[in-house]
Amino acid sequence: MAANTIITVKNLTKKYGDFEAVKGISFEVFEGEIFGLLGPNGAGKSTTLEIIETLREKTSGEVNVDGIDLDKKPDEIKKIIGVQLQTSGYYPGLKLTELIDLFGGLYNETVDPLKLLDTVNLRDKAKAKYKELSGGQKQRFSIATTLINHPKIIFLDEPTTGLDPQARRNLWDLIKDIRSKGTTVIITTHYMDEAEVLCDRVAIIDSGKIIALDTPDKLIDKLVETGFERPKEVKKANLEDVFINLTGHVLRED
Ligand code: ADP
Ligand code: MG
Repeated sequence: MAANTIITVKNLTKKYGDFEAVKGISFEVFEGEIFGLLGPNGAGKSTTLEIIETLREKTSGEVNVDGIDLDKKPDEIKKIIGVQLQTSGYYPGLKLTELIDLFGGLYNETVDPLKLLDTVNLRDKAKAKYKELSGGQKQRFSIATTLINHPKIIFLDEPTTGLDPQARRNLWDLIKDIRSKGTTVIITTHYMDEAEVLCDRVAIIDSGKIIALDTPDKLIDKLVETGFERPKEVKKANLEDVFINLTGHVLRED
């Protein structure tokens, strides 16, 4: 597979005062993939993401997005990326369609609100207010807002944190769907299972450093090659599977 690089990060560092949150990381994101930054709380995932999104200043290093140098033309980067807007709090009383019109105006884009809501399976909530949505619906709506400006790349920062298993799986399907339409996705998560099923490649980040970067399959294969074995025979299903099977993640809307 000949992959085109769409994001290049070289020796990126970020200091908050004396504390170095990002310690010289380098990676590439390929066009059309779901790339995951996987790591525990405080690893530096959001900092890294927000620097690429032009929302935070870096301390040093180079960032290039679709051929655009972050230091030279940050505004050009903004035009081709989709960032989750923090909709909560601001206009909780507006209907979803009204919020989309509002965001469309901010981006100078004419949007068909119902069509956009369709892409995230929320058409039946068009007249609902943001505050009336469930956690999973709020996340789906927030992902819809990233698509308003027809971006080449969308950035999702822990989109499934706090969601129940069904809502998480719905969101995974949605994110894969967005990727299948040609949009590159960069996502952060601290859920290992999520990275394994969702991401084409993951960078494992810990204390501001990338300690591994590959496809989930290859990372697992490499570990197995060292002779690693799981201590116990693993069951073919887990309690989450039982739950999903009983409640049905496809039929029931979260
Ligand atoms: P993650 O998203 O992986 O949880 P963050 O990028 O949010 O990690 O944070 C990385 C580290 O930087 C943490 O130790 C955090 O406390 C610190 N940090 C993040 N933002 C700030 C800030 N604005 N000022 C000072 N320290 C910060
Ligand atoms: Mg974070």
